[in-house]
Parts: sequence; structure tokens; C-alpha cells
Amino acid sequence: MSDRTPIIAGNWKMHRDHLEAIQLVQKLAYHLDGADYEGQEVVVCPPFISLRSLQTLIQSDKLAIALGAQNCHAEDEGAFTGEIAAPMLARLDVRYVIAGHSERRALFGETDEVVNAKVKAIQSHGMRPILCVGETLEEREAGRAVEVVTEQLRGSLAGVRVADPESLVVAYEPVWAIGTGRTALPEDAQELCGAVRTELASIYDADTAAGIRVQYGGSVKPGNVRELMALPDVDGALVGGASLSSEDFALIVAHRR
Ligand code: PEP
Repeated sequence: MSDRTPIIAGNWKMHRDHLEAIQLVQKLAYHLDGADYEGQEVVVCPPFISLRSLQTLIQSDKLAIALGAQNCHAEDEGAFTGEIAAPMLARLDVRYVIAGHSERRALFGETDEVVNAKVKAIQSHGMRPILCVGETLEEREAGRAVEVVTEQLRGSLAGVRVADPESLVVAYEPVWAIGTGRTALPEDAQELCGAVRTELASIYDADTAAGIRVQYGGSVKPGNVRELMALPDVDGALVGGASLSSEDFALIVAHRR
């Protein structure tokens, strides 16, 4: 057993307004008991507009839930209409920020270079990046999954220092498994999460790589979370669709019961 702290994060994407967000977190807290949080981190990543209300709720109800954001701009401030800067998120007690989600890479043209600048901005404000990597179906079928993921890691982590291994999370998310109901086979998830760790050891060193949490993401559900979390190189889950149901997300968080 590794001593890496498992981390279960919910990526709500562009779903739920601020009132629904409060309700979702309240219901999640209702379904979970203290033991479910113990020894693991639970993170919710709502749309930006709900961060403030959830910060207040989490503080007032003393919930053991960390706040995450789904994105940020690489600059600290400036004329970037519609964007949100890392220091603004840090002021709201945001602990994790997703960087390089495949939807942002595919729909908003984020390159490894852009993702790299965001990872640095997130770190420089004391927050922790959840760096997403993963291959498309075409790349997998061409036998290029490991190569693609390796390249994304190298590009996105260029010049990124990791003093505390728990301050960086990598989410391996095969693009073909996101929102499709099609989960990677456990052996494929293990192979790629293992390849992520091997590459992290080459970028950093073996000890650092052994301490960095690697999540699997892609149609994680209450019914498959246990076998995924049992894989030696899987330290958590990045959950999209199922995190919008308080019951399902609670079952995923409580997978050890
Ligand atoms: C995601 O958006 O990161 C994700 C993994 O989505 P889903 O769980 O819906 O596949």
C-alpha cells in the first residue's frame, strides 16, 4: 500500500447555478459520515460563480471538503475579458485547480504551453494543479496512448518544480472515456497511470514520482470506483457526470465502506 492520500474530485463542468451548488454540497455532506473523509481528500470543482457561496458553506458547516476550480488564466491580472486569475481563486480558499482538461484542450485550443503557464500560475499562488492528460480514441487505436500522455506531461510540466509531491495531482483521463459511459479497462487504466508515474520519475526523481497522486478519470461511477481505486498506480478519481448527483458522488467517496 502506498502512503499517498487518495483524492476524489468532482468536476461539475458548466452545470448547476449557485443555489443548486449549495444544495448539492449540503446533500453530499448529508450522505457522508466522518469516516468517509478520513484518510482521503474530497474536492468539488463548481463553476466559478459558486466558489464564494461554497467557501462560506464549507467554512460555516466545517465540512471536510476542499474547493477546486475548473480553470484559470496564466496571468495574475490584466485586460483579459471574461477570464479569472489564479490569485482571485486563492482568495476564495480554492485549493485545487484543474489544468488542461481535455475539453479545454479540444474546445478552447489549450496547448501544452498554455497548460504549462497555468500550472505555474496555480502553484505560484499556493494552490495545487490537477493536471489532466489523456489520449483520444484515434491515438489509442494507433498504439500511441503512452507516447501522447508522455508528451503532454513533458510539455505541461516543463520548468515546474515539485517540492511537495502532494502539491501536484495528475489526472489520467482517456478522452474516449469522458462522458461516454465507457470506462477504461482496469488493466489499461493501470498501464497508463503506471506510465504517468514512470514519466514523472524521469522528469523529477523516483521518490517524487512515488509521492505524486495520479487520478483516473473517465466515466467513474459508484459501480466501478472500487476496482479502479484498487489499482496500484491509481490514487484517486476525477469524476464528471456522477459528481452532479449527491447520492452517486457520496457513494464514490464512500467506496471503502
Ligand atoms: C471529466 O470531466 O473529467 C470526466 C471524467 O467526466 P465523466 O466522469 O463524466 O466521464
